[in-house]
Amino acid sequence: MFLERSVNKSDKTGWIEVICGSMFSGKTEELIRRIRRVKLAKQKAKVFKPKDDTRYSKKKVTSHDANSIKSKPVNNPSKIIKLSKNIDVVGIDEAQFFDDTIVDVCNELANSGKRVIVAGLDMDYQGKPFGPIPYLLAIAEYVTKVHAVCTKTGKMASYTHRIVDNDELILLGDVKKYEALSRKAFNRLNNLLQSKKD
Ligand code: ADP
Ligand code: MG
Repeated sequence: MFLERSVNKSDKTGWIEVICGSMFSGKTEELIRRIRRVKLAKQKAKVFKPKDDTRYSKKKVTSHDANSIKSKPVNNPSKIIKLSKNIDVVGIDEAQFFDDTIVDVCNELANSGKRVIVAGLDMDYQGKPFGPIPYLLAIAEYVTKVHAVCTKTGKMASYTHRIVDNDELILLGDVKKYEALSRKAFNRLNNLLQSKKD
């Protein structure tokens, strides 16, 4: 489905791929799958994640299915450029937690000939576009939206519902704090919560 990066060093064409979707939709699994293929092709790959994402491991990108790959935690997107000098393929997980400078960083990496694979939540727990992800979707050559299974209906889920009562935008968590819901289930639940508040 994707072009693999040319081994011809003089053909320095880079691009951006975004993998987006709700929580549990398999973004990290898909990122890991692509990075493993790159490594099999003996290209140099490095994966970065925000320093604040310490859910499963400080130094690994880990899926909810316990699949993992080594990663470098960074607090500032500009660090990714400094640490990717000799790298062919740059992976970035949980990109929604970075500030907007991640957009220019991804462009700069791609402009310098690198393949950039970014994974992140497209919507927050309120169903609103999350941080820099909409901008990344706009500048990417390839966009993949993955889906989870709705825990209420068994249908396709594209929303993340926060089970616990907390209205901060960023609240790290897993199945104890979040569930993936279809549009219908998400709306039904939010309408119910709203009517309780009114
Ligand atoms: P993401 O990075 O999008 O949050 P991950 O790649 O970390 O997702 O995890 C995907 C895995 O989450 C699935 O393979 C599955 O084992 C698990 N999972 C837990 N809840 C669900 C759900 N509701 N729908 C689909 N997968 C789920
Ligand atoms: Mg993930």
